[in-house]
Amino acid sequence: MTRLGFIGLGTMGHGMAANLEAAGHRLTVWNRTRSKADDLGAHVVDTAREVGPESDIVFVSVSDTSDVEEVVFGDYGVIHGMTQGDILVDHSTISPVATKGLATRAAELGVDWVDAPVSGGSEGAVNGTLAVMVGGPSNAVEKTRPFMDAYSKSIVHVGEEPGSGQMVKAVNQVLVVLNQLAVSEALLLAEAADLDLRKTLEAVEGGAAGSWMLSNRGPQMIERDWRPGFTVDLQQKDLRLVLEAADELGVPMPGVALVFQLYRSLQARGLGSDGNHALVKALEVLAGIELGR
Ligand code: NAP
Repeated sequence: MTRLGFIGLGTMGHGMAANLEAAGHRLTVWNRTRSKADDLGAHVVDTAREVGPESDIVFVSVSDTSDVEEVVFGDYGVIHGMTQGDILVDHSTISPVATKGLATRAAELGVDWVDAPVSGGSEGAVNGTLAVMVGGPSNAVEKTRPFMDAYSKSIVHVGEEPGSGQMVKAVNQVLVVLNQLAVSEALLLAEAADLDLRKTLEAVEGGAAGSWMLSNRGPQMIERDWRPGFTVDLQQKDLRLVLEAADELGVPMPGVALVFQLYRSLQARGLGSDGNHALVKALEVLAGIELGR
């Protein structure tokens, strides 16, 4: 039986780990804040490194590139406990370019690196309906697929090249934030016109303008419920990755650059821990009106 490890039990990792357990898998886990593992039935260890010897496949879901480097290659990193033939699946959203280097370092130790960023929000992690965009060697990807099935509705292997999953995630984030901007502007127009916001949303979401963002975050925006599925700070981290990749590839991205600056204004106001749908608050300042007031 394949032994599984999980590192990083935040909003996303906790949901994914719980779904693996619900599917009958026993996990060895490590999280920096240990208490987040309390309600899992998992074997909890004291360092990331200790997950390695207990696992054939290790899943990682932490915040940024430097955090993945730390939990994998740091002094107490999991790689030091892994052996030839093991697989590391990185579900974090990090730099595609850095991923190539991390995969090379892992390969030197006989460990396959699968970059597998996800989309679908906190709801997707809890409900097991994530979309996973996967890069890395086919044989390793196919070994991990049955386990990723426990929390995913779609798993697409986009390329053998390390980092290709991360690059597709960058594409995903362009679509996410420009959609978020569209939802924000549209609802503010409805507000200015004194329309019933709930009825407006109901009227448009079934047509060509419908989207995950509109149906899931629209109601939260109308209720002024800024609790995060995905924080402004993490969203901004992703946009930094998108703009870096675009700069390197010479692709102009005026829309993403605009949204990056709008999110920056929220961070400057101390709103980095709000959910990413708080983007509308930046537009409210420009418009001089507020949703649902
Ligand atoms: P989160 O709730 O902030 O959790 C972050 C996790 O990473 C926590 O377990 C945290 O440990 C751990 N961590 C961060 N830096 C660390 C370090 N240096 N050393 C050890 N542990 C560290 O974030 P999340 O929303 O789960 O996001 C995780 C990843 O998924 C991110 O890359 C994010 O961009 C991506 N993602 C998120 C969503 C979403 O809707 N939330 C959707 C798609 C993709 P502590 O518990 O100790 O803080």
